[in-house]
Amino acid sequence: MRLRNKPWAQEKIDHHSNIVVADPEKWQGKWREVFGNDNPIHIEVGTGKGQFICGMAQRNPDINFIGIERQKSIIVSAIDRVSDTELSNVHLMNVNAVNLRDYFKKNEVHRVYLNFSDPWPKNRHDKRRLTYATFLKAYEEIVIPNGEVHLKTDNQSLFEYSLYSFSKYGMLINNVSLDLHNSDFEGNVMTEYEEKFSALGNRIYRCEAVFRNK
Ligand code: SAM
Repeated sequence: MRLRNKPWAQEKIDHHSNIVVADPEKWQGKWREVFGNDNPIHIEVGTGKGQFICGMAQRNPDINFIGIERQKSIIVSAIDRVSDTELSNVHLMNVNAVNLRDYFKKNEVHRVYLNFSDPWPKNRHDKRRLTYATFLKAYEEIVIPNGEVHLKTDNQSLFEYSLYSFSKYGMLINNVSLDLHNSDFEGNVMTEYEEKFSALGNRIYRCEAVFRNK
């Protein structure tokens, strides 16, 4: 994603603390207080401009969604989208997912979504991929037993790497699709990148990976 310098971004984030949770580490173990209910929590890591998380929140009012995006210049677009839709079951966090364990307690999250994550194609950058083992360990530590990671991408190499990484970690892999838009999968909510890359004719890959032995 091309980043434009937006010097006003921090100010906008600060002005929307009802949407972008300030000091999210304060809510570790207490997210039910943020949402005002006990509904399950699904997070999207690398939420971008928020199209997916808002679409999911609209369709699933009994699930609480948190979009995590580290780039200020990008999360400001997600703020607009959440604000326009007036949804009460979606919040954002402007943090780096490397520190997820600082924000959530064990069993606090039901599901993790990874959509069109940066592929980091160079082998020496593999640790930055959101499906690298250290990230999987962080997800495992915050999700419920048998919690799930749902992944979509148009990048075949990242998809293959992720299947390998999930499997090496001991996760069960379900519902693999090698061409999501020409499959029988129902209820797909498109992300910004998904719209862009499928319009270019790229195939969309999807899978669900389940943690075991917790
Ligand atoms: N999910 C969106 C979509 O499908 O349209 C955006 C995809 S974009 C390629 C990846 C996003 O993930 C970027 O906005 C980037 O800033 C964010 N991101 C990457 N690594 C991250 C991390 N460690 N923590 C939080 N956000 C991250």
